[in-house]
Amino acid sequence: MRRKIVAGNWKMNGSQLLVQQLMPEIVSELAALDNGVGIVIIPPALYVADVLKSTGPGLEVGVQNIAGWDSGAYTGEISASMVKDSGCGYALVGHSERRQLFGETDQQIAEKVQQAVCSGVTAILCVGETLEQREAGTAEHVVAAQLRASLAGLCEDQWSYVVVAYEPVWAIGTGKTATADDAQAMHAAIRQELKALGASADKLSVLYGGSVKADNAAALFAQPDIDGGLIGGASLRADEFMSICRAIPGKG
Ligand code: PEP
Repeated sequence: MRRKIVAGNWKMNGSQLLVQQLMPEIVSELAALDNGVGIVIIPPALYVADVLKSTGPGLEVGVQNIAGWDSGAYTGEISASMVKDSGCGYALVGHSERRQLFGETDQQIAEKVQQAVCSGVTAILCVGETLEQREAGTAEHVVAAQLRASLAGLCEDQWSYVVVAYEPVWAIGTGKTATADDAQAMHAAIRQELKALGASADKLSVLYGGSVKADNAAALFAQPDIDGGLIGGASLRADEFMSICRAIPGKG
């Protein structure tokens, strides 16, 4: 059975005060949920230790970026083995903001995925097309190429440390969301590609991200190939974020 996950990417937002305000509410509301959702909080790295104080069953912590190397003279970087050592289980890899603003290449993203899976950290690999690519009808082709470039050659054990997040670039932080049907079609195509790459694709969680809110989450999460969400802006408000978590369909 695939893990149902809702991950909250705080991006470069937050403070110790936000951690103190948000986390108790998330923990207590999660305790009342029975839909099997796993929550991953992904704060800026400086607040990971504070968020880790609030973890418990069903709640894990991740980082927003990792290095493509294990250790050494790479000032400012954090390695996957450090992420694991600090108690985090997840790392975002290849978020579109990293690709676009920091020029991350498919090659670097592949190296980061390797570091994560070899360190026992689950890589949440972000893929997605731009608006121009969607309008040109190449969205599936672009996403399949991103998957191939980042995940080719993983061995069986390593696939269990991979989650894919489909995030159309035009939907991130814009208030525009893919329709549930369009998102489902892309998720089905992603699962096909993962199968072609050698994954047990039926066991792999594929999340949707891009302006997910309390009022559109249920329609997205009801789709058979959507296993949860990667949430940006809406993860900074406990009530909105937990409404999204509640939109995960029950286990039955
Ligand atoms: C994200 O940062 O991955 C994201 C999906 O952001 P938002 O939900 O704000 O669109």
